[in-house]
Amino acid sequence: MNATSVPTPARAKPVVLEEATAPATTGLVDRFGRVARDLRVSLTDKCNLRCQYCMPAEGITPLPTARLLSDAEIIRLVRLAVEQLGIREVRFTGGEPLLRKGLENIVAATAALRTDLGTAPDISLTTNGLGLTHRAAALKEAGLARVNISMDAASAETYAKLTRRNRYDDAVAGAAAATAAGLHPVKLNAVLLPGVNAYEAPALLAQALRGGYRLRFIEFMPLGPRNSWKREELLTADDILAVLSEHFTLTPRPAAERGAAPAQEWEVVAGFFDGQAHPAGRVGIIASVTRPFCGDCDRTRLTADGQIRTCLFAAGETDLRGPLRAGASDAELAEIWRHAMWGKQAGHGMDDPAFLQPTRPMSAIGG
Ligand code: SAM
Ligand code: SF4
Repeated sequence: MNATSVPTPARAKPVVLEEATAPATTGLVDRFGRVARDLRVSLTDKCNLRCQYCMPAEGITPLPTARLLSDAEIIRLVRLAVEQLGIREVRFTGGEPLLRKGLENIVAATAALRTDLGTAPDISLTTNGLGLTHRAAALKEAGLARVNISMDAASAETYAKLTRRNRYDDAVAGAAAATAAGLHPVKLNAVLLPGVNAYEAPALLAQALRGGYRLRFIEFMPLGPRNSWKREELLTADDILAVLSEHFTLTPRPAAERGAAPAQEWEVVAGFFDGQAHPAGRVGIIASVTRPFCGDCDRTRLTADGQIRTCLFAAGETDLRGPLRAGASDAELAEIWRHAMWGKQAGHGMDDPAFLQPTRPMSAIGG
């Protein structure tokens, strides 16, 4: 297969099930037959970076503290999701989840749970890596399996421009600490913005290969600052693949191995970039805009203020915090979550002319 175009994966067409409401005794099933196994929990909307694709430079209103779930409330809802709703994978995110002091305790409590398969949930973290040098070992010890680290630049200068903070060395050190702690595989996430960091994409891949990391490029989605996204300026998966193919030999990995994973992956043959050797490895592209994978989505999301979101792009959300604080039982909370899931839309609708960017920014949804 030609490595310079992204093949459209064969995806199951959603079939609408007959029931008008969520079946009462199941896990998290929607009307299209998808089953949520992967829970994304946002632990905070706060962040120590200001990535251009995610947050404005200033003028952010943080969620009021009283609305944020406590550690105990998060642990209760994660337990409910794992023990009663069929969740098998839990990813902690934000905002920046390392800003949450109780993270190690939340991870340890999650690791003590057992899924419907009788195993501990698969626990991962999406982070910018700042401060991971001090915490990677403790997080591994608590039960964290893997990390995804935002790394959008190959130089300190470009990193500072993109993130609006001079923290490149800390992020690089954080990724190295993750490897040293055994949080394998360490994946790096990069969003490319033309005129900011896009020209560094090949250098970033060479560095990732040399560091033993799996780099994934994520298409820029309309979830950042208002009016920052223009489809005509989007660097698509095809664009990214074309640029990488000028410098690297790429072979697509079998589609069958992808499952519900958002990234399409390529093997990279060992070679040279900029006169320096790089080993073989893998690179991925998450083409959420141009090759949506909604038909295989197995995700449900919980925001730091206790709202269920069935999709990053959902127009609405379902409140769990209110009922939780009003004394709802586990069975009642599980029922609310099931009904929210049943209402999940078939797709994110970005191509619909009526599409509206969610009012919550990415940092407050949890990526
Ligand atoms: N702070 C952590 C981090 O940066 O990894 C976790 C939260 S961040 C919102 C999670 C992921 O969302 C990151 O990989 C980031 O690149 C991605 N992201 C943020 N805004 C995005 C956007 N507008 N389009 C595509 N990806 C975005
Ligand atoms: Fe912070 Fe992550 Fe958003 Fe960057 S992508 S501003 S690190 S939440």
